[in-house]
Amino acid sequence: MLNPVVEGQSFPHAVGKIVCVGRNYAEHAKELNNPIPSSPILFIKPADAAVPMAPAFAIPHDQGSVHHELEIAILIGKPLKQASEADVLSAIAGVGLGLDLTLRDVQATLKEKGHPWEIAKGFDGACPLSDFIAAGKISDWTQIPLSLTRNGQLQQQGSSADMLFPLLPLIAHMSRIFTLNAGDVIMTGTPAGVGPLQSGDELIATLGDWLRVTTQVA
Ligand code: ZN
Repeated sequence: MLNPVVEGQSFPHAVGKIVCVGRNYAEHAKELNNPIPSSPILFIKPADAAVPMAPAFAIPHDQGSVHHELEIAILIGKPLKQASEADVLSAIAGVGLGLDLTLRDVQATLKEKGHPWEIAKGFDGACPLSDFIAAGKISDWTQIPLSLTRNGQLQQQGSSADMLFPLLPLIAHMSRIFTLNAGDVIMTGTPAGVGPLQSGDELIATLGDWLRVTTQVA
């Protein structure tokens, strides 16, 4: 159970479900030879997927490659159901970074068989999360930059400007399918540059000038 940290304060609710979108950046869909979706591809990670991103996090070692997918993570502060974009804006408690850890070989086998992705995406520890900044710091939700450096090499760099389904309407859409509650986290898709992690990797993840997370793969 993880209670997120918002601006140095422990959030009063533990992380609940984590609602994620696949292929929300065209360049990432292309790098995995996936078609560009016409509607959001949604999936959920359970609460036990959430772990702190820093100072270190663990990855599974016996199930093939584990890919990093750095994403903008949104912490929900109050219930949303059939929400408008204005409702979404008033319900966001924080903005941070998440890693949508993915067992890529397992996922490829599941996709081949037409099976659900859960075990590739929803295992314990599959969603390292940073601390969150207050939503009020964001003046333009369509211009949020993020980047991931691995062992000194820039791996992923993107901006919410490049999302196929922009953040506020995307969360409104999610709330028409799943009620979102305080403590739920939204993972908003990954830009291109995903790749495998190894034990000992040193990572630096940034969210504009607001957050800079230094961490290590245990
Ligand atoms: Zn993802």
